[in-house]
Amino acid sequence: MSLAQESPARFGEAMPRHDWTREQVADLFALPFPELVFRAAQAHRRNFDPTEVQISTLLSIKTGGCPEDCAYCPQAAQYDTGVTAEKLMSLEAVLAEARAARAAGAQRFCMGAAWRSPKDRDLDQVCAMVEGVKALGLETCVTLGMLTGAQAKRLKSAGLDYYNHNLDTSPEYYGEIITTRTYQDRLDTLGAVREAGIHVCCGGIVGMGEKEEDRIGMIATLASLPVHPESVPINMLVQVEGTPLAGRAPLDPLDFVRTIAVARITMPASVVRLSAGREDMSEETQALCFLAGANSIFYGPKLLTTPNPGRDRDMALLDRLGMRPMEG
Ligand code: SF4
Repeated sequence: MSLAQESPARFGEAMPRHDWTREQVADLFALPFPELVFRAAQAHRRNFDPTEVQISTLLSIKTGGCPEDCAYCPQAAQYDTGVTAEKLMSLEAVLAEARAARAAGAQRFCMGAAWRSPKDRDLDQVCAMVEGVKALGLETCVTLGMLTGAQAKRLKSAGLDYYNHNLDTSPEYYGEIITTRTYQDRLDTLGAVREAGIHVCCGGIVGMGEKEEDRIGMIATLASLPVHPESVPINMLVQVEGTPLAGRAPLDPLDFVRTIAVARITMPASVVRLSAGREDMSEETQALCFLAGANSIFYGPKLLTTPNPGRDRDMALLDRLGMRPMEG
């Protein structure tokens, strides 16, 4: 039977499934590119308006000096990347940035701190930031490293909407990228966040020298979580001089699009974010990512410490594509 004769039910899942096997995910990666993108676009249309893009802004509220050793990260203290360690920003400074993000059209304001895990006194300050940003009418997201169940509950009581904690890659490749914590540590924090009733933002990074089987393993792990992350950021590695991953052979952009498409098919009701790496990505590749089901971007000139396309450039691209920001 040709692909065109297959039953429509095979072109996407009506309901999110949580029993994806690696073989099934590998079969999706192996589809001819037009077929894969077509199925992803169908899954996208079943759950979202494909012309709408969710807009988030990301602010680094505590930069650099991190004790972890993530091989992609310019904020790890042990790599000489020119990033200067800074203290936690003041509440007023964060709220000023949040107001500017709201004025520029952001729906969600994400705050990132370079910690292994937050100390309780730091958490008090972050909770005040969450309350303040929420009072401006923005959705809130923070990424602070590993959390205990009690810390996750505190953040929930402050009104936190999303917690970002990426799985980064496959369980097998994880030890090549990070040695200061385990995959299970990540899953435990994700469990604590879920248990507290906070929405989960969880994805990974590609282009780190991993094999396709690692991209398969990463998506299969995400897609078989008991509840799919509401937000799935897919990042293209931004190579930063001084980090161990600087100088890796870049990933074929079409393999990046494939990863987005498979994320869309396997987690059809999640928002899939075309995340870091857009600065060096052609507008045509970004357009293919939207066609393959990406429906969120980070907006603003900087992503924590690495460059991101300016707001005007993003608005011009959305205009060219006849797309628009998702209503809040
Ligand atoms: S990714 Fe996060 S945890 Fe890892 S080194 Fe960077 S700031 Fe630290």
